[in-house]
Amino acid sequence: MIGLISATAAGAAARDRLAAAWPDRTRVYGGPVRDAVRAAFAECEQLVCFLATGAVVRLVAPLLEDKRSDPGVVCVDEGGRFAVSLLGGHAGGANGLAREVGEVLGAEPVVTTATDAVDLAGLDTLGLPAEGDVAAVSRALLDGEEVALDAEVAWPLPPLPAGERGAYTVRVTDRLVTPGRGEVVLRPPSLVVGVGASRGVPAEEVLALVGEALREAGVSAASLGELATVDAKAGEPGIVAAARHFGVPLVTYPAEELARVEVPNPSDAPLAAVGTPSVAEASALARGGELLVPKRKSAMATCAVVRRPGRGRLAVVGLGPGARDLLTPRAKAELRRAAVLVGLDQYVEQIRDLLRPGTRIIESGLGAEEERARTAVAEARRGQSVALIGSGDAGVYAMASPALAEASDDIDVVGVPGVTAALAAGAILGAPLGHDHVSISLSDLHTPWEVIERRVRAAAEADLVVTFYNPRSRGRDWQLPKALAILAGHRAPTTPVGVVRNASRPDETSRITTLAGIDPATVDMMTVVTVGNTATRTVAGRMVTPRGYRWQTDAKQEAR
Ligand code: SAH
Repeated sequence: MIGLISATAAGAAARDRLAAAWPDRTRVYGGPVRDAVRAAFAECEQLVCFLATGAVVRLVAPLLEDKRSDPGVVCVDEGGRFAVSLLGGHAGGANGLAREVGEVLGAEPVVTTATDAVDLAGLDTLGLPAEGDVAAVSRALLDGEEVALDAEVAWPLPPLPAGERGAYTVRVTDRLVTPGRGEVVLRPPSLVVGVGASRGVPAEEVLALVGEALREAGVSAASLGELATVDAKAGEPGIVAAARHFGVPLVTYPAEELARVEVPNPSDAPLAAVGTPSVAEASALARGGELLVPKRKSAMATCAVVRRPGRGRLAVVGLGPGARDLLTPRAKAELRRAAVLVGLDQYVEQIRDLLRPGTRIIESGLGAEEERARTAVAEARRGQSVALIGSGDAGVYAMASPALAEASDDIDVVGVPGVTAALAAGAILGAPLGHDHVSISLSDLHTPWEVIERRVRAAAEADLVVTFYNPRSRGRDWQLPKALAILAGHRAPTTPVGVVRNASRPDETSRITTLAGIDPATVDMMTVVTVGNTATRTVAGRMVTPRGYRWQTDAKQEAR
């Protein structure tokens, strides 16, 4: 919950706008501000105070405990011009909240946390437990000093401008090491502990057994990613309590699945009790990995420890048609999260300024699609966080399908949709896509012309609005006239046709003509061509395809 506090009428007006925008996330605290701040501080994860920063500093100072648990606090000035992240920028989420509040109120977000201000990922924001000299190493990264990155476990981290050697070190490991001076140890959740137990096992016994096994393997409990067991033990209180103690999920598997996992130490007891010859080893190994500690036993419990290889992350990101404000915030966030960026050189140019320092860029020229897809997947398999970019939507005549055809289930894949050329052009032309429509690429590089022609015919017969992608290039000039002729067989010569070149880019041009009037020579590879259906009309210079089937019939009757 976000607590909202204000003192004056102007502050209350801004507060009410925020409360109206986020009815489910916010709660207004009225009454004397001192009491309101105290109550909100105790009850909410975040506060937005429509008060001077000085007043808020004095009010919250006596309430502060720990930056890991204190709420994030944002101050908005009387005039609603600035949203200041005052307290808990990272852990309290105040930096993000200041930006969100800024968007709702039209205020400028003010963020002063050092790592954010110069655009580095803060070491404490990576989502991994960090131990050691976080402040000193963050400062060294900021000051551009040599910081060595020593990743024993591959993990999809955002870019860190760290090199091979330096006076400071960021170490990514699950091993039990104590960070030295100038060192930060990041703990990836690479360990899985499989647990089996007889009914009624005490939580203390499970904890003692697991703790001993981790110590013996020389690994840190901070790298524990999950506890695993058989379905039948999902509710066993001692195991559930142990998972809660470590702050990790308890993952369970059906006995049949565990029975199929090859383990070094099967036995008859669990086979009789739950139907699998191994619970601890099999559930730890169920998703693969390296067995660090084979089954060990206490009176009522068993456990085994497995290290899983790092799981890389591939984000397939659509950049939109060109304009920066048609790039979605989610796409932007993914670009900044990626340590490796793969894409066509001209698309890389489109977003280069958004990348964090240290991002490795793998760019290539037109035509190297398969290779780009393979490279992106291979980098993700190495445990990296990778963004594979494409213009418009990356799944439309673009990189998503070749990449996912290469990918296996050993990486995570995230898709971020983008505004396609057809949609961008549609918005410029008016409302040409108001009823059923298709996109057809006229490039016969990947598709035989007979297939393309059959689809154009089908669209013509079905009276679909058609957007042609890749309509014409220097060496490919007869396809567009041919396709238009097929449509003209089913549509009037006066059917509106929209031609949009470089939609949303600085040299954007567009015009609306007709099937009879279009000059294919004015069309090139930067263009999409949208042909209306039999109901599409031009209204006040805009292309409009009526929405309903009923409306369409009425319109036809009127025309008669
Ligand atoms: N993934 C892209 C399409 C890539 S195919 C998308 O979703 O939009 C490349 C073709 O898209 C170009 O030949 C052109 O026909 C069209 N195109 C891409 N961007 C465009 C833009 N800004 N304006 C007009 N057409 C564009």
